[in-house]
Amino acid sequence: MGMGFDVHRLVQGRELWLGGVNIPWSQGLLGHSDADVAIHALCDALLGALALRDIGYHFPDTDPRYKGIDSRLLLRHVMALIGQRGYRLGNCDITICAEQPKINPHIPAMQRQLADCMDCSTDQVSIKATTTERLGYTGRGEGIAAYAVALVEPIAPQQP
Ligand code: MG
Repeated sequence: MGMGFDVHRLVQGRELWLGGVNIPWSQGLLGHSDADVAIHALCDALLGALALRDIGYHFPDTDPRYKGIDSRLLLRHVMALIGQRGYRLGNCDITICAEQPKINPHIPAMQRQLADCMDCSTDQVSIKATTTERLGYTGRGEGIAAYAVALVEPIAPQQP
């Protein structure tokens, strides 16, 4: 199992992408990629489960190949790494911390997007949303944070 955490700053003039879904909003997250903070936390959780370092190690933000990239492609790449090592997703659980916009209406679409990237069922992809009661940088609307845990399981049954 592994855990991941990420934060991106909210700014004017960017699209808001969360969990592979484009959410209509007056601000978006700033980053080298599409800055999908939920997918980034999930990727770090998956990488962490097999001690494969972190997302910045695999996709450096100094590399022009990743400028503006759809984070779903990063997630697919991470899943390929997991698969090469003989594992697949067991389940994952993501918590998105945002004061605004309302995340809940978009959760089923995010589950479908992430399940498609990870070649699994939406039942294996839990997404939760919370505010931080107007406290801290997320509460002031300066950014959005996400936490994730992921369990991976061997594809082939382990020999006794
Ligand atoms: Mg990030």
